[in-house]
Amino acid sequence: MNLPHVVIIGGGFGGLTAARALRRLPVRVTLIDRANHHLFQPLLYQVATAMLMPGQIAAPIRQVLQRHRRAQVVLGDVTGVEAGRRQVIYHAGESGQQRLDYDYLIVATGVRHSYFGRGDFEPFAPGLKTLGDATHVRNRILSAFEAAERETDVAKRRALLTFVVVGGGPTGVELAGAIAELARVAMKEDFRRIDTRLTRILLVEAGPRILPSFSEDLAAAATGRLRAMGVDVACGSAVEEIDDGGVRVGGVAVAGRTVLWAAGVEGSPAAAWLGAPRDRAGRVQVRYDLSVPDRPEIFVIGDVAAFEQDGRQLPGVAQVALQMGRHAARVIEARLLNDAPPPPFSYRDTGNLAVVGRNYAVLERGRLRLSGYPAWAVWSMIHILFLALPNMRASVFLQWVWSYVTGQLGSRLIVEQKFSSSSGRSSRSGG
Ligand SMILES: Cc1cc2nc3c(=O)[nH]c(=O)nc-3n(C[C@H](O)[C@H](O)[C@H](O)COP(=O)(O)OP(=O)(O)OC[C@H]3O[C@@H](n4cnc5c(N)ncnc54)[C@H](O)[C@@H]3O)c2cc1C
Repeated sequence: MNLPHVVIIGGGFGGLTAARALRRLPVRVTLIDRANHHLFQPLLYQVATAMLMPGQIAAPIRQVLQRHRRAQVVLGDVTGVEAGRRQVIYHAGESGQQRLDYDYLIVATGVRHSYFGRGDFEPFAPGLKTLGDATHVRNRILSAFEAAERETDVAKRRALLTFVVVGGGPTGVELAGAIAELARVAMKEDFRRIDTRLTRILLVEAGPRILPSFSEDLAAAATGRLRAMGVDVACGSAVEEIDDGGVRVGGVAVAGRTVLWAAGVEGSPAAAWLGAPRDRAGRVQVRYDLSVPDRPEIFVIGDVAAFEQDGRQLPGVAQVALQMGRHAARVIEARLLNDAPPPPFSYRDTGNLAVVGRNYAVLERGRLRLSGYPAWAVWSMIHILFLALPNMRASVFLQWVWSYVTGQLGSRLIVEQKFSSSSGRSSRSGG
């Protein structure tokens, strides 16, 4: 009990990696998360588009840390940090507000959607961040097809079969491609009154091209692939309005009953808890060792950290969070053992990947650029390897093989649908 206490807020890629890396040190670790599971967000779009089941991409944090005997897991929603008293304040359901003392604190709370000051878009254009979001989006997509099958009015049916994805980054591209696969391959035989192959998918990007984090030739290849799959790619047009009838883009109204948001993120409220400097996206500006200015015992890692390297902000990707988690643990280790501090944090870029429907991905690593099936094979392998538990890896692998052979999806379920709605919109369900 007298061992130094490291509290980690957030069991995502960053927090969980830090907890694992601290395993061999003489410290107590408490990992606190508002969810009981670690979520593999890169495959969230596959839950949203009915390919995978929630349990295939989420692992109970307790199970992941089962063998880490000095680690405790707390299910709680952190609401603040009193840095002067070295306490984390969290809300724990029926137990109400609680406090937790720490010697070292690692904040890894990630980001949330940003609607760029247009919070009124949110009810009409859900984003993807949690398992609840993914099942909600899945409900919306599948319900739209059901409503279209019932609808007799041609214009309304057309609107029900129009899907708009806002944001041409990897998540938007992956979602648009997966909806196209769903409509044109997986469900094409299943309806009697509608032809799901006539579904319209519109991918809207405000910038000049999709996949801005990739080179131009790979972005062009991905655009070509999406168009071949029947996705309309509209670049250089910002969405001006979104309501329950659809969107207005570049002054043109598009009637579409399902609009999905993949356009922007902002940091969780960690900067406000810590009174720390933040960037424009609300992420905490950390020092070279990932600690917070004037608070050497507090580290901020992963998506919620703003870290500049070679004049550019590091991207919000899993590899950055994983490497930061390991680095924060190394700094704590050096302090505990009175060793020399490790060199300043430096991100080793492991490359960029985005999948565009089945059998096609784009990959960029240094000078290597790949598109098509080879990139997709690499994408599949990496995604399976990085799932948290062996049973998840086996299950996702088998599901993909099954879907590859049969064209069938893993989880085409509408959960807790409010049947009274004729609009095809459903109530939000938890998972
Ligand atoms: C749809 C989607 C697709 C993506 N695809 C890719 C991809 O293909 N490749 C890639 O590299 N990256 C991808 N990313 C980004 C990647 O998932 C993130 O960079 C990574 O998850 C960041 O890890 P993190 O630990 O910083 O935060 P997260 O993984 O987001 O974890 C944050 C954790 O903190 C918890 N938390 C938040 N607030 C509180 C609170 N107040 N109290 C308690 N707990 C809290 C959350 O429940 C969560 O478990 C994707 C992200 C999304 C959303």
